[in-house]
Amino acid sequence: MFIVLLGPPGAGKGTQAKRIAEATGLLHISTGDMFRENVKQQTELGKLAETYMSKGALVPDEVTINMLLDRIGRSDAAHGAMFDGFPRNVTQAVALDDALAGRDARIDHALLISVADEELIARLGGRWICRNCGALYHERNDPPAKPGVCDKCGGELYQREDDRPEVVRQRLELQKPPAALIEHYRTAGVLTEIDGQRPLDEVTNALLEAIR
Ligand code: AMP
Repeated sequence: MFIVLLGPPGAGKGTQAKRIAEATGLLHISTGDMFRENVKQQTELGKLAETYMSKGALVPDEVTINMLLDRIGRSDAAHGAMFDGFPRNVTQAVALDDALAGRDARIDHALLISVADEELIARLGGRWICRNCGALYHERNDPPAKPGVCDKCGGELYQREDDRPEVVRQRLELQKPPAALIEHYRTAGVLTEIDGQRPLDEVTNALLEAIR
């Protein structure tokens, strides 16, 4: 089964993807995580991606698509994956469709998590990530037991550079799923829209319901 998670930055794609992966065993592929890992290691790809990420812009399609195709070519993605943060536009969606068609597969579900703008801004500002294991927290909605410390592994929590308020506004402006992308999956008959403003567990259940 191949699934794409769509939604604006801050809709909860990353948090929900981790929960769905835990519940279903599906492989979670996040292009944002892949870019952040490359930035951390200061690879050539990371240095290039950083120039876009720091401005809240999208990394160019060619670079992103190559990275993604390379990733799904690995054996652990042979039978299924859940894409979080990819595709961001129709060009990327078509590249993914073509790659899957080449192995007799398709996107089975496109899950769109919708959240109002004001709520997104509030959420992105309060987000904390574990430097060690990548667990996600939110000051208000999902705080760690001890501020600054990961519940799961004791690692240090940090805020993403691109979660600063100036960059957040840019990201919302530039990175909402375009209407044409949503249409792409509606036309394919695989789109389910989910209200992302409900409590975390309710959103998780709605997503699991949609794919079961
Ligand atoms: P995310 O963790 O999904 O918010 O991604 C963090 C940043 O990585 C984004 O702000 C973009 O700069 C970049 N990025 C992630 N996924 C993509 C993509 N599919 N296309 C272009 N840029 C991306």
